[in-house]
Amino acid sequence: MRIIFLGPPGSGKGTQADLISKEFSIPKISTGDILREAVAKGTPLGKKAESKMKKGELVDDETIIGIIKERVKKKDCKKGYILDGFPRTLPQALALESINTDKEIVFLFKISKEELVRRLTSRLVCPKCKAVYNLISLPPKTKGICDICFTPLIKRSDDNEETIEKRYKVWEAEEKVLNDYYTKKGNLYPIDASLGSQVIFEQICSIINKNR
Ligand code: AMP
Repeated sequence: MRIIFLGPPGSGKGTQADLISKEFSIPKISTGDILREAVAKGTPLGKKAESKMKKGELVDDETIIGIIKERVKKKDCKKGYILDGFPRTLPQALALESINTDKEIVFLFKISKEELVRRLTSRLVCPKCKAVYNLISLPPKTKGICDICFTPLIKRSDDNEETIEKRYKVWEAEEKVLNDYYTKKGNLYPIDASLGSQVIFEQICSIINKNR
């Protein structure tokens, strides 16, 4: 089973991917997390991706497709996996077709730009365990500290208004292409991402259970 979460930055797809990963015991693969880790470690991949990420632009298809193809070969993906932040372009979607699965379900998170700016400018993340917080809707128990691993929280360097604006524009172009592609394929489920996290989680679980 392959589950794909499509949506703009800040639409909550990462949070839902974590919940679904636990519920169905399949790994979440986030290309954004893989790239941020590479940047933090200063690997050749990180060096290549860093400037694009800072500007809110997409990293080239060949690099990203290579990362995904290697990752899904691993043993933990045998029962299935969740893709968060991939595919983002038509070549990426087409590359997935060569990786066979018995079932593929695609969720498209929909939300207004105003709500996204509000969410992203108040988002904090844990650099160690990757937990995500929000100063308005989901603050940590102790100010600035991760509830799970007690690491000081940080703001992502691309969560500033200028880069958010750029990332949203990039997303609008992505959405059109991917929406058309998966609508034609017939496996696309739109999700109202302005709803509460628990409601969205239940909707996603119910769709997965009906379709797997
Ligand atoms: P995200 O955490 O998904 O918002 O991704 C952060 C940044 O990583 C994006 O703004 C892109 O620069 C890069 N990135 C993540 N996933 C992809 C992808 N599938 N294709 C190209 N670039 C990506």
